[in-house]
Amino acid sequence: MMNYNYHAHTYRCGHATGEDEDYVIRAINGGIKYMGFSDHAPFVFPDGYESHYRVKTQDIQSYFDSLGSIREKYKDKIEIKIGFEMEYYPEHFEKMLKNAKNIGAEYLILGQHYIGNEHPDTYASTKKTDSEELLSRYVDCVCSAVDSGVFTYVAHPDIINFVGNDNIFRKEMSRICEVSKQSGIPLEINFLGIRKGRHYPNPKFWEIAGEAQCPVTFGCDAHDPIDAFDEKSLSVAEWLVRRYKLNYIGMPKIIELN
Ligand SMILES: [Zn+2]
Ligand SMILES: [Zn+2]
Repeated sequence: MMNYNYHAHTYRCGHATGEDEDYVIRAINGGIKYMGFSDHAPFVFPDGYESHYRVKTQDIQSYFDSLGSIREKYKDKIEIKIGFEMEYYPEHFEKMLKNAKNIGAEYLILGQHYIGNEHPDTYASTKKTDSEELLSRYVDCVCSAVDSGVFTYVAHPDIINFVGNDNIFRKEMSRICEVSKQSGIPLEINFLGIRKGRHYPNPKFWEIAGEAQCPVTFGCDAHDPIDAFDEKSLSVAEWLVRRYKLNYIGMPKIIELN
């Protein structure tokens, strides 16, 4: 039973499909009572570059208008929040956060899709690496994000595709579990990774999370209305909770931005 999901996208990011309203209808039909839209946060880099996978700045208004009116229409059936999934980039974080707040984000989840600053020094977190330095930089970003206190939770903390030494992986990734435990900010078992058979959820990571007993939550990461409720991935996630004796807290406590 899962009556919440704070990880859903819209077509505006360019790699999700379907109508906004269909995500909500699907969620309601699946028994979701608390829902959040967290499309990839719009951001214009200082040189004018806009990522290919984010909501474009010209679509921000439509994002909030459309979701706002759907929220009103279904308010008796479901509580909807409108926020973003965003990275922590050391060089741009302050600006990104200010921008997200200015345009009206109600909450944020962290999705650390790049190591470094995304642009122009690009290294995708999903790209295989055995570099201890890249792993350490990834972990630094996630820890700084958690410390900032503005993220409701960490989406797919195990998105880094580290294929190097297991002891190094354990030493570094333990730092994420530790800050999560200290701050109470949960780590997400990501259903998109389950659905697509990706390298995450990574059992090696969840073993560490189980030992640390840091808080754990679930997220559908819907990029299609059908995934706004995902019973199949839910049962896999529940299996992971049992297997690694995770500290599953259920619905995350939303950190409201203002
Ligand atoms: Zn996405
Ligand atoms: Zn996502």
